[in-house]
Amino acid sequence: MQDSLFTLLQNSIIPNQCIICHKLHASNLCSDCLSKIPHKPNIWIHKYTQQKSLFAPKIHTNIQPNLVEGKLMSILTCTPFNDPIIRKSIHYLKYKNIPQIAEPLGAIMLRTLTQHIRLKSNIILCPIPLHPKRLQFRKYNQSLLLAQYLSDKLKLPLYLDLQRIRNTPQQMRIKDRRDRIENVIASFEAYSRAPKNSTIIIIDDVTTTLSTIQEAAKALSKQGFNDIHALILAH
Ligand SMILES: [Zn+2]
Repeated sequence: MQDSLFTLLQNSIIPNQCIICHKLHASNLCSDCLSKIPHKPNIWIHKYTQQKSLFAPKIHTNIQPNLVEGKLMSILTCTPFNDPIIRKSIHYLKYKNIPQIAEPLGAIMLRTLTQHIRLKSNIILCPIPLHPKRLQFRKYNQSLLLAQYLSDKLKLPLYLDLQRIRNTPQQMRIKDRRDRIENVIASFEAYSRAPKNSTIIIIDDVTTTLSTIQEAAKALSKQGFNDIHALILAH
């Protein structure tokens, strides 16, 4: 009760401002600043795959062949993480308690996905989960918010039975590439079987070494998923 009253008061006294240009804007990232985020999609393709990728390249799509290993078949990323607007937006989404930024950021993912995906039935979206302890601290999972936005717009179901079983230090805080890969090994478990002939797309906000999504894909494959892909906002 106290919380919601405080939020109500806060919202009526301090209207939402764009975190970049400080113009008043409901979602905290105005359309002018949103449009400055570069549209630079990358498609990463599995080393040994014979099948057609779920994601079809378009003009100006950067293709990264032979880079994905393990159970993941392909990855579509939307924009470079070194762009200052995307960097700040993701930082505010994750660490400054501004969940409403998920909506404009979800719109970037929606545009990239709809431009590149080949039509297929039985597509399920799977957000990368937070460990329950971190969720308790952050109050919401930013990847779930992004996946929910996409699920609403595209009418696709969510798979919410992937869980983190180890509370690992945050990847962003680990500098060394090898340490980042080791940090997330065996940190996920999936709790329900794959629906027949389904394609699953893992949803996350950032990837650097691909190690988190590779580990999530391993856990999903143990439940019978064999057509596993990922859509990541920034790389
Ligand atoms: Zn702005």
